[in-house]
Amino acid sequence: MNIAKDIFTYLGRSGDSIRRGAGSSNVTVVRGARLAVIDPGVWVGNAFGAVVGQMGEEGLHLEAVSHVLLTHGHWDHMNAAGYLQRRCGACLAVSAEDRAAVEDREQFFREFDQSDHKAFQSELVPLPRSLIKLILWYSFGKQPVMTVEWVVRDGDRIDVGRILEVIGVPGHTPGHVGYLVEDCGALVTGDLFDFENSIGMDVTNFRSDVSVAMKSIERVISLGPEVAIPGHGEPIVGRKNVTARLKHALANVHHYLGLTEQLLSTKAMSLTAVTEALFPSIPLSLRSMTMLMVLNMLRFLEQHGRIERTQVAKTWSWTKK
Ligand SMILES: [Zn+2]
Repeated sequence: MNIAKDIFTYLGRSGDSIRRGAGSSNVTVVRGARLAVIDPGVWVGNAFGAVVGQMGEEGLHLEAVSHVLLTHGHWDHMNAAGYLQRRCGACLAVSAEDRAAVEDREQFFREFDQSDHKAFQSELVPLPRSLIKLILWYSFGKQPVMTVEWVVRDGDRIDVGRILEVIGVPGHTPGHVGYLVEDCGALVTGDLFDFENSIGMDVTNFRSDVSVAMKSIERVISLGPEVAIPGHGEPIVGRKNVTARLKHALANVHHYLGLTEQLLSTKAMSLTAVTEALFPSIPLSLRSMTMLMVLNMLRFLEQHGRIERTQVAKTWSWTKK
């Protein structure tokens, strides 16, 4: 669909059905003299093939793709990038902090094993590692060999016959960036916010940081883009609408932080118990992501001295200070 002047977004597949390529992110194409593809999404299950078909209807041909720009190094956003690199010789760009995850799939597991979240593994995903890998392979496909050619930083300018500016918006991952099409004020926001799979602000993985993500949302509010194109869910058109949506995302986080603190003021609770109290009807497909978000909120409250964790037998529980 045509979102703004020569900017096309192809909505990703919802992740609530079990099929190959489900959960693939939105794909955005910016047309200048050449084409930039931002977050090409998933290749398997013809997810990217369907996008290519729709691009053809708009006269957008892969031969013209000069840049593949990633907002961050998550599989649902990037697996088709390897195909585009081989097919078009396009320049692949991502930030320094997310580069390793793009070039080496095992990095995801290495980083998880080194993270604070590792202590909660049996609650987050009660499955053996080999089975987790098999599910990921089924959903997103084999990760192709990808070589990052442009390590982007906040303020970098990418020229495809019109200028895209790199906007550093960390929080979902440490190196998460957005891409602002300068001549029309359209900002591709990646997973800065996600109302489809999350409560708005997207801190649903083990590299997320709540306070950093809040600052990034505030930055985008002050930037005032005319259009915001998220990685999941519908694009938002009109500066007022974008601002309102972002403020809603922030308000939701504060709401759930408050609720969490309130829950823990009466008794000590495990991560699982807090998640079930906050989100009693979460579908199984979103359970691990939601638990990661709750864990990140608990860590935020802990860092601010409002709650503390204690270990009983093998399970950690949380309580108000
Ligand atoms: Zn992501």
